[in-house]
Amino acid sequence: MPDMSLTYEEMEKEVKRHETVAKIVQMIEDDSDFEIVAGKILKYMGEYLDVTNVCIYQPQGKCEMSGFTIQWSPDSKYEMNNDAKYSRYFGSHILSGCACDSDDDIKSYVTVPVMINDKCAMYLFVADKEKYIQFDDKTIGVIKDISKIVQNIAQRKVTRNSLFRSYGALTDILDNMGCGVMVIDKDTKKVLFTNRVAEESIDSQSITRECLDRMYYDGQMETKIEKFDAVTGAWYEVKLVDITWVDGRRVSLCTIIDITQIKKNQQKIEFQANNDFLTGLCNRRKCENDLTELIRKKGSGALMFLDLDDFKHINDGLGHQYGDILLKQIATGLRHISGIEDTCYRMGGDEFVIIVRPEEKSRINQIAGDILVMFNKPWYLYEAEYYCTMSMGIVEFPENGTDVHELIKKADIAMYDAKKAGKNRYAYYLEKKDKSSYSRLDIENSMRTAIATNCREFEVYYQPIIDNKTEKCIGCEALVRWNSRTLGFMTPDTFIPLAEYLGLITNIGDYVFEKACIKCKEWNEMGYEDFKVNVNLSVVQLLQNNVVENIRKIVRRVGIKPENLVLEITETLAINDMQKIMKIINQIKAMGIKIALDDFGTGYSSLNYIKQLSLDIIKVDQTFIKDITQDDYARAFLKLVSDLSKTIGVVVCVEGVENKEQKELLKQMDIELIQGYYYGMPMPAEKFEKKFLHISKLQK
Ligand code: C2E
Ligand code: CA
Ligand code: CA
Repeated sequence: MPDMSLTYEEMEKEVKRHETVAKIVQMIEDDSDFEIVAGKILKYMGEYLDVTNVCIYQPQGKCEMSGFTIQWSPDSKYEMNNDAKYSRYFGSHILSGCACDSDDDIKSYVTVPVMINDKCAMYLFVADKEKYIQFDDKTIGVIKDISKIVQNIAQRKVTRNSLFRSYGALTDILDNMGCGVMVIDKDTKKVLFTNRVAEESIDSQSITRECLDRMYYDGQMETKIEKFDAVTGAWYEVKLVDITWVDGRRVSLCTIIDITQIKKNQQKIEFQANNDFLTGLCNRRKCENDLTELIRKKGSGALMFLDLDDFKHINDGLGHQYGDILLKQIATGLRHISGIEDTCYRMGGDEFVIIVRPEEKSRINQIAGDILVMFNKPWYLYEAEYYCTMSMGIVEFPENGTDVHELIKKADIAMYDAKKAGKNRYAYYLEKKDKSSYSRLDIENSMRTAIATNCREFEVYYQPIIDNKTEKCIGCEALVRWNSRTLGFMTPDTFIPLAEYLGLITNIGDYVFEKACIKCKEWNEMGYEDFKVNVNLSVVQLLQNNVVENIRKIVRRVGIKPENLVLEITETLAINDMQKIMKIINQIKAMGIKIALDDFGTGYSSLNYIKQLSLDIIKVDQTFIKDITQDDYARAFLKLVSDLSKTIGVVVCVEGVENKEQKELLKQMDIELIQGYYYGMPMPAEKFEKKFLHISKLQK
């Protein structure tokens, strides 16, 4: 309701003001350019205020346009020019007044600053060049209100403008990105934008289509998936992020990154993590994972733990290249055994594991047998034949446990039992109540401790060697024993192979060697001048670079007569490197030390060696004497060795003589030396002295 106290003229003015403001407010919705909208607003204002000028004035700044950028006048004669003198009308506050004494053509004016983004971006300038108008508060209020509308409109336009400008920049950026980018409307699934990479190099349409289907599947939003393109062999990582697009829509920003190289590297790393590079078999890690899986899913099966016998000899004797070739051949061989084609693993070194799946479990003996057969044939390494056997432990699950590490440990214990029983065989794990079974890790740890504590836990036992004719004890063999604080009394079979494998044999061997030399020298000085001591020298020791120097050092330090020292060397594969062995043996012999070929007749014997190596003694392995009374072949072999030895000037010693009958037979064959339980077991030094040196002394 109009204020009834107003005059008619005043009411008319009020109505006009309402009309004007209403018209101007409507302009907010106008989508036209700012210049057009502002131009209309200025016109409405000018007509309402009845002035000669209404302008938008943009102050001097970075903007290319400044001065009166938009203006309205009832007549063009009033138009404002951009003269610097007008600058005094513009400040940070609303200004109004009459310019009676001014040197310009403005008679009255009102200036209202218009703020955009907190900065004064322009001024709304109302002026009259004809009349002196006293703008009242109400009128100034109206101009202020209108300036707010102008500000609102300008602010929106500016925002939109900068958006358009940044949209341009954005597409430039997106186009030059290394990855494909697509913008997808979340509701319609329409692609709104595709950058150059996505357009040119990727079959983005099909990829995104498929990925989007997957990602939006069931209303659940996955934000990252990997996609393999079977056609090109490329891998892509497709990522979705929700953003607000320039026009205010909620969209999915989809980035497509080519991760083919990363994938390849990943696969390589995974392959390396799970595979043994040498043999191509899977490795320990994969074995443990597969076993865990099998136990969890099927709950039944078996595990075979396989360790090569005397692999160290091949490695040290022939060189690592040979060892590697052998390992590869074994891996290939294992993979050809029916039922385990893809469940063979190399655990490291010369250890292999085979997982037997439940469907093959009933064939377990057959599989173990096939493996044994495979190892009983020679391996071909650079055109020569070599024998290398293995010992294997078998555990079954769930019978022997269901924990992966427990099973591996038990299989290892069983394998070690197979080694102790004479190698080249397999053994099932047996739950034992006593503590006689140890894993190799237990033995290894204890052995390292024993060596670190000056070998005090090791003790040298002596076994008599008897002259078969005179039945006198002319010497002895030094045999090591280990009184382990943690494991108890250990015979050499349980720890010597491991010591060789771990390279610890030199420490133990040197200790035994020195102790034996000291004892022998003592006995020599007691009156048994020719009494000899035999010391075992592992092939691993023999192939050590400083072996000759080491022996010389100990012999000198102890002061033993070298002629009273016999070194026993076991015939093994390593002797294939004949040149090297001959050189070392000749150097040892040059010191005056005698050489015995140990365990003759087992495995790889060839009588040729005896001639090639200038040996002093051949020790025939105890397996020959075992059934000599029945076995014609054994007897014929011994007779041959005995006859041959005479012609080449070598002394024969037969080991393992346990009864009188055997002793008599050997006498008939003219075997010079015998050794065995019949005369005496290996025993500690004091006992040996009492029993043999005392007797011999009386007989002297
Ligand atoms: P080896 O050199 O063949 O030693 C002879 C083995 O036969 C000894 O076993 C001995 O106790 C055993 N023996 C002797 N007479 C008889 C018999 O009448 N019947 C039976 N059944 N056995 C008999 P031991 O002491 O257990 O040694 C086993 C192997 O350990 C040795 O075989 C040798 O190869 C190795 N060894 C022992 N001491 C050392 C050492 O100090 N250094 C190195 N490198 N090896 C050693
Ligand atoms: Ca020996
Ligand atoms: Ca022997």
